[in-house]
Amino acid sequence: MTDVIVIGGGAAGWAAALAAAQEGATVVLVEKLAESGGSSALSGGCLAFAGTDLQAAADIEDSPDALFADLREVGQDVNDAALVRTYCDEQLEAYSWLGQAGVRFSPVIETASGQSVPRAHTVDPADMVRALKAAALATGRVDYRPNTAALALEESADRPIPAVRLADGSIAEAGRGVVIASGGFAKNPEMLMQYAPGYAEAVFVAGAGSQGDGLRMGLALGADLRDMDYVKGTFGKHPTDETNDHSLQAVYKGAIAVNQDGQRFVDESISYKLLGDAVMAQPWHTAYQIMDQGIFDTGDDRVRILDFGRRLEEGLFYVGDSLEELARQIEIEPAVLVATVQRYNGYVDAGHDPEFGRTCLVHRHGRLRRIETAPFYAYPSTAVVFGTYCGLRIDSHARVLRADGSAISGLFAAGEVTGGFHGAAYMTGSALGKAVVFGRIAGREAAAAAA
Ligand SMILES: Cc1cc2nc3c(=O)[nH]c(=O)nc-3n(C[C@H](O)[C@H](O)[C@H](O)COP(=O)(O)OP(=O)(O)OC[C@H]3O[C@@H](n4cnc5c(N)ncnc54)[C@H](O)[C@@H]3O)c2cc1C
Repeated sequence: MTDVIVIGGGAAGWAAALAAAQEGATVVLVEKLAESGGSSALSGGCLAFAGTDLQAAADIEDSPDALFADLREVGQDVNDAALVRTYCDEQLEAYSWLGQAGVRFSPVIETASGQSVPRAHTVDPADMVRALKAAALATGRVDYRPNTAALALEESADRPIPAVRLADGSIAEAGRGVVIASGGFAKNPEMLMQYAPGYAEAVFVAGAGSQGDGLRMGLALGADLRDMDYVKGTFGKHPTDETNDHSLQAVYKGAIAVNQDGQRFVDESISYKLLGDAVMAQPWHTAYQIMDQGIFDTGDDRVRILDFGRRLEEGLFYVGDSLEELARQIEIEPAVLVATVQRYNGYVDAGHDPEFGRTCLVHRHGRLRRIETAPFYAYPSTAVVFGTYCGLRIDSHARVLRADGSAISGLFAAGEVTGGFHGAAYMTGSALGKAVVFGRIAGREAAAAAA
């Protein structure tokens, strides 16, 4: 019998498998699809870490405590302080551990949601998963089984650890623990309708295996759930473009967001999840990010969410030599758009936005910019649900908990299938970060569980 069974081969699952194997455990990792990777491999590749060498090299002062304060603030204190503390205490070690596993980081990016100082460390996400997988397999203790879906967890009186029923009809048993790392449910329309009806009209981009299997299996064993009311989309996705999975965050460089009536509707510097809620409440669930040439020039072709030049080449921007001409193209009354921009420029000059209270580009940093230099640009934007950021309740040891706070014997979970860490909103890099940090904890704890 193997020591640990891991369900799902995204960042959380491979981190769990590697950590368990490094503790000396034998591991079976089952992956539903032919290729592992999940949403992790598709992602933007940003991970939130604080106090790293890369930040020091860029003169960025940061600390686990500052990260803790930001995560709590962004999560609006709905998130579980103990889980957030565990993340903050473990993340630096996890960062080094990733490096030892062969994961390569690029310099920290400056424009990120919910971060009071830049701390989004970027990787090639598919390479990161490949590196974790290679390191796990290199231990010689991990048996990887692709095309093998876990269907159910089965408890019995004579077994302290649930057995895993697999799609081929066989039953797999673990001597120490089972780790659910099967991702979220952004590809399960029924669950989305149940938990996030407000996002029915949004765009969904996630790994094909994100169907809520682990959530369903945990629920069947009596697991409690967390943060289910806070499924949110990310603002900035072009409503019809299918070339770019990623959103565009021109607002964080100084653009404003206006709805089809030509009106602003939100403080554009807040978390892009809260901007997601705001855009879903607008006519047609759509807005335009409006900027001028000066703001356009601050784009960054190394960062997908800021690569304005590429989206321009792809024909996704409307461009006008005047605001009136731009307004006509996007079917907004020209005088209304001009008045909105003039009013906004007045707020920039006065240093005070009495309508929505915007004071900075993003999360307390960056000076606002006037929108004044032709040509002017408009990027159609709705919300995209990349992940569900809610689910099974866990404790700091990644044990799955029931509503009364007791742990389900032998059951651990990590990554997007878990709830409680994000709370009401989301900081850039915290979902991939959570997958790695808690995946590592889950693997370690499962390996150490009493046989
Ligand atoms: C386009 C996009 C961009 C994103 N950008 C970022 C970002 O830059 N930073 C950030 O922090 N977050 C980002 N996210 C979110 C983040 O990528 C995910 O929350 C995180 O990667 C989830 O990791 P995971 O290991 O829990 O799940 P996944 O990576 O989804 O892995 C789950 C795996 O489990 C498998 N599986 C599912 N059910 C079963 C079953 N029954 N049996 C066996 N296997 C099963 C799946 O096939 C999949 O391989 C992004 C997401 C997307 C889609």
